[in-house]
Amino acid sequence: NALRIGVLCVLLVLLAFPIFAAGGQEEGTAKKVGILMPTKSLQRWNQDGQYLKSKLEAKGYKVDLQYANNQVATQVSQLENLVTAGNKILVIASIDSTALKGALAQAKSEGCLVIAYDRLIMDTENVDYYATFDNYKVGTLQGNFIVEELGLKSGKGPYNLEVFGGSPDDNNAYLFNQGAMDQLQPYIDKGQLVINSGQTEMSVIAISAWKAEGAQARMDNLLTAYYADKKVDVVLSPNDSLAQGIVASLKSAGYGTASKPYPVLTGQDCDKINVKMMINGEQSMSVFKDTRTLAERVVTMVSEIGEGKKVTVNDTESYDNNVKVVPSFLCDPVFADKNNYKELLIDSGYYTIDEIM
Ligand code: BGC
Repeated sequence: NALRIGVLCVLLVLLAFPIFAAGGQEEGTAKKVGILMPTKSLQRWNQDGQYLKSKLEAKGYKVDLQYANNQVATQVSQLENLVTAGNKILVIASIDSTALKGALAQAKSEGCLVIAYDRLIMDTENVDYYATFDNYKVGTLQGNFIVEELGLKSGKGPYNLEVFGGSPDDNNAYLFNQGAMDQLQPYIDKGQLVINSGQTEMSVIAISAWKAEGAQARMDNLLTAYYADKKVDVVLSPNDSLAQGIVASLKSAGYGTASKPYPVLTGQDCDKINVKMMINGEQSMSVFKDTRTLAERVVTMVSEIGEGKKVTVNDTESYDNNVKVVPSFLCDPVFADKNNYKELLIDSGYYTIDEIM
């Protein structure tokens, strides 16, 4: 009998071992999160990456964070490598929203869960959730700022406006543009805003890879072609990197004096350089998207996924990626200018005063 019981025990242990081992492995890989960010060249992505990494690590996740220098092919191979390395949760801020299809199909077949970060990933069913700021609202804040700043509601004008668009491969760029133009179009129609170049189509105004140099070159061209004998009064820039290029161009064309003041100029991200530009009167506003809020949201999503809970979203209608409507969590962007930046950016601990002075 003792022998029988002994043999039975050994058998039981042998049977159970692979199950325990597999369970352990499952747990190990489920704890691995791969994060892909587009580039280190724009300040915000560095902050996004850092916050995500440190908060997930504090929760016990093993994090592999990669930047792709805005190179689409690099990001695709980084994604493939993260999947091969056994990361089961992937957080991706894509460079080209349509370029990840193939690699994501592979990721899905390996059982990965995919969260699109800030930018929607298009044309694939293999994206599970989307965490972002309300991109249309970003544009609305920019457009409204222009309306208020120029007193358009009380009939002022005409003012000379030029419009810039973000990178054509970034879905956000179209939403920023739509949100802003919905505010401005009534005043363009009434003749209070005049676009001397006539350029409003995204195919003409979009700046590839959100490059400051691209915006600078386009602004140079606009000033030469349409403003030799006129002043530009307002420029709609969808983000801060483009605003940097636009200001560089304006400076070299002699703007920034009493007789030729800087135009009203919008932006987004509250990059340190641009906060300085706001303080110096070179840029009028920026949209503040607190990266801590977005990172915190994604940490919550990852934890919910990890614990097998229902993932919390607050929008199940707006973000159709051409294959499916991706369940989304939209965070709230706010506008910043020289009057409220201290409260928003310094008092909240986002920057120290030395960083922006
Ligand atoms: C982000 C912006 C950023 C831009 C350029 C967009 O997708 O939402 O915050 O300025 O990309 O990196």
